[in-house]
Amino acid sequence: MIKKRVVLTFPKEAVEQPVTYRLIKDYDLMINILSAKIDPNEEGRLVVEISGKKANLHSGLNYLKELGVTIQPLAQDVRWNEEKCTHCTACIPLCPSHALSIDRTGMKVSFDSERCIVCGLCLKACPYQAMEILF
Ligand code: SF4
Ligand code: SF4
Repeated sequence: MIKKRVVLTFPKEAVEQPVTYRLIKDYDLMINILSAKIDPNEEGRLVVEISGKKANLHSGLNYLKELGVTIQPLAQDVRWNEEKCTHCTACIPLCPSHALSIDRTGMKVSFDSERCIVCGLCLKACPYQAMEILF
């Protein structure tokens, strides 16, 4: 079983294709949608985590390429510097994927890098430079 996080850019003509359904049903892959921007008649963008057997992943990605979908690895990574974080919570409402969350009992912030879609919103919001983007 392998896992890949990729950015899929769909041409207008492929936006209405049941792509995730086909990847799951025909290629036996698991799809976790991290972010989506899809409008009819416009180029679309999906950030997904795809997991499954290596051969199935390879075939599924080939199917996407044949549809004209551009596939880019989610190459950047975000780091939470816990020692700089004051748990001020300024970033919490901005984080679209809930990678940054708050435990209300202890009012402590935590970061789940698996959920992060590298949108960068927390970097601008953090007054203490506790969030960092790695290239
Ligand atoms: S970059 Fe920051 S705001 Fe965006 S998903 Fe990751 S943790 Fe949340
Ligand atoms: S904005 Fe910065 S300092 Fe405040 S909780 Fe988020 S990461 Fe921590």
